[in-house]
Amino acid sequence: MSSFELDPLFRRIEDRREEVAALTAELVRIPTINPPGDAYEACARFLGERLAGRGFTVEYLRAEGAVGDSDRYPRTNVVARIEGDGPGPCVHFNSHIDVVAPGEGWTVDPFAGVIRDGRVYGRGACDMKGGLAASIIAVEALLDAGETFSGAIEISGTADEESGGYAGVEWLAERGYFSKPRVDHVIIPEPLYKDSVCLGHRGVWWAEIDVKGRIAHGSMPFLGVSAIRGMGAFIERVERDLYPRLAQRRTAMPVIPDAARQSTLNFNSIHGGAKAQPDEDGFAAALVADRCRIVLDRRYLMEEDEADVRAEVVEILDTLARERPDFSYELRELWSVPPTLTPPDLPLVQALDRGIEQVLGQKSRHVASPGTYDQKHVWRVGKLKDCVAYGPGILELAHQPDEYIEIDDMVASAKVMAAAALDLLRGGQ
Ligand SMILES: [Zn+2]
Repeated sequence: MSSFELDPLFRRIEDRREEVAALTAELVRIPTINPPGDAYEACARFLGERLAGRGFTVEYLRAEGAVGDSDRYPRTNVVARIEGDGPGPCVHFNSHIDVVAPGEGWTVDPFAGVIRDGRVYGRGACDMKGGLAASIIAVEALLDAGETFSGAIEISGTADEESGGYAGVEWLAERGYFSKPRVDHVIIPEPLYKDSVCLGHRGVWWAEIDVKGRIAHGSMPFLGVSAIRGMGAFIERVERDLYPRLAQRRTAMPVIPDAARQSTLNFNSIHGGAKAQPDEDGFAAALVADRCRIVLDRRYLMEEDEADVRAEVVEILDTLARERPDFSYELRELWSVPPTLTPPDLPLVQALDRGIEQVLGQKSRHVASPGTYDQKHVWRVGKLKDCVAYGPGILELAHQPDEYIEIDDMVASAKVMAAAALDLLRGGQ
């Protein structure tokens, strides 16, 4: 398809500039904060009713029995589907409807949906209600333009991406919603820049380590074993031996920002000893800490092996157990996800590359995300590789105060999404 043929469709999307902003603002006003998973039902119904009004068949799917699901906080997902003129592939737009808590430091109300200076502000505006709105406007414009296509288009709004997606995309994938023959191509409009196609993400390995000690009176620490000192020794070894090694490992994956093209390790939390009594401002009891717990968040590269990632942490702990009297530990693996990278020659990537060239007049950039997102479930559970993230917005704004999305970016990426969908549904003509 030439961009000339696409001009009427693109004009329809430009005409919906105010609508895409208003739709984003309306979505921001539904405070789907996760945890705990507020207002999913309201958000799913809002989307479902809009799309039902446009001729979509709409299903509401509560992930009953999944982690986090309860009558107070139902994990409600919505999947809407519209058929074309005959059999053909299905292009699916998947967005998570949950947002993280607003946190401190906002200068606007995070759930008011403020539209100002060409931007929509609010928690989730960028990650990723703006992308969701852009995909809806793209598909609605395509239908209104009377574009004929065979196959089907689906739009879903899913739960819990921010907490792993187990009651969202994973739950749906286990039920065939992200597999052939139902679906062929999945676009996830996460905020990864309108000129970039995100092929995948680094791997994740989370572990919790307990260093164990022996309690004693704080005035006679020589009678006990301090778990905090043991943990201090562990952190010191990680600093000395592991961090320099991680910094040297560079990946061929096109991870952005550039600093994330290496292996990383974060200490997510650390707790040791007795709690302060009687309240957090009081003094802690005079005790030798008998336990200290740390949570590690290790992000690894496709060139690394998960077994090695684990082994190099265990090696440090075992060395300490040999060298330090009374050092003992327990390690529990909390969760892990292998790295994913969609091959750039798959049809979806090619269609988005062409769309970006047609809309922005520049070559698309292939990137990978520093953190995981729902693509992992589409790959692993749905066994569907033709899945990428493509959507408007600036990754660094996600989870920040005064999060916003540029309306221009939503319009541009909606054009790219519409062009890519038509391209795929018409067999790449
Ligand atoms: Zn997101």
